[in-house]
Amino acid sequence: MKIDLTGRTALVTGSTRGIGRAIAASLTEAGARVAVVGRDQARAAEVAEELGGGALGFGADVSDPASVVALVQAVEVAFGQVDILVNNAGLTRDNLLFRIKDDDWDMVLDANLRGAFVAIRATARGMMKRRWGRIINIASIVGITGNKGQANYAASKAGLIGLTKSVAKELGSRNILVNAIAPGFIETDMTAAMTPEARAALSSQIPLDRLGSPQDIAGMVAFLASDLASYITGQVLVVDGGMVM
Ligand code: NAP
Repeated sequence: MKIDLTGRTALVTGSTRGIGRAIAASLTEAGARVAVVGRDQARAAEVAEELGGGALGFGADVSDPASVVALVQAVEVAFGQVDILVNNAGLTRDNLLFRIKDDDWDMVLDANLRGAFVAIRATARGMMKRRWGRIINIASIVGITGNKGQANYAASKAGLIGLTKSVAKELGSRNILVNAIAPGFIETDMTAAMTPEARAALSSQIPLDRLGSPQDIAGMVAFLASDLASYITGQVLVVDGGMVM
C-alpha cells in the first residue's frame, strides 16, 4: 500500500522552513495540493514555487485570530476546500519561571495553542459537511514531560495535546481524525543554537543516537493524513528516536 493523497488539499502552517517545509514537501510528493504558510507571503510563495504540484504561498500570523480566519478563507477560495490541516507553526521564548515575562507567556500560548484552535474551528465546518478530514497538530515531547526553562512552551504543547483529544472525540463521528505528533529534538533553526557539547550530551540520551530530521516528522504526517491511518484518532505519536518511553 502506498501513501496517495491525490485530489486532497492541505494547509500547513509554518511551512516556509524547518519541519513545516518538510511536511509540505512530503504531502506534495504524495499528490496533495498544499497551502504553504509563513508570516511573509513572498517567502511562502517562493517555497510553494520550489515545491511545485500546484502549491500556493499564503501570508498569515497564527498568533492573530483574524489573520488565521482570513488565511482559511483565502485557501478555501484558492483550493475550494481544506481536507488536511497541519498546525505546525510554533515558537519558543525560553526562560526560567521567575524570568518569563507576561508578554512572552502570551506570545507562545497565542501562536502555539490559540492559533491551532482558531484554525481547527475555521476548517472543521467544511470537513464535517464533507464527512472527511484530517487534523494533525505538531506538539512536542516537552508537552508530555515538561522541561526546565520552557514552562510557557511546554504548557502550550500540553494544551495542544488536550485540544487534540477533545476535538477528536467531538468530530470522530464525522470521519474527521485528529492526532498530535510529539517530536523529540529535530535539526531546524529552533535547535541550531545548541553548542556541540550540548548536542553530544543530548544525543547520548537518545537510543537512536542522533537528533531527528524534519523528514522524520514529515513521514509521520503523510501517514496520518493517508488512508493507511483511517482508524487512528486522538493519539499522540511520539517521534523522538526513543528518547521518551
Ligand atoms: P522553525 O524552524 O523555527 O520554523 C518555524 C516555522 O513557523 C517557520 O516556517 C515560520 O515561518 C513559522 N512561524 C513562526 N511564527 C509564526 C507565526 N506567528 N505565524 C505564522 N507562522 C509562523 O521551527 P521548527 O523547528 O520547524 O518547528 C516546527 C514545529 O515543530 C513547532 O510547532 C515546534 O514547536 C515543533 N517542534 C520542534 C522541535 C525541534 O526540535 N525543532 C521539537 C518539537 C516540536 P516565518 O518565519 O516565515 O513566519
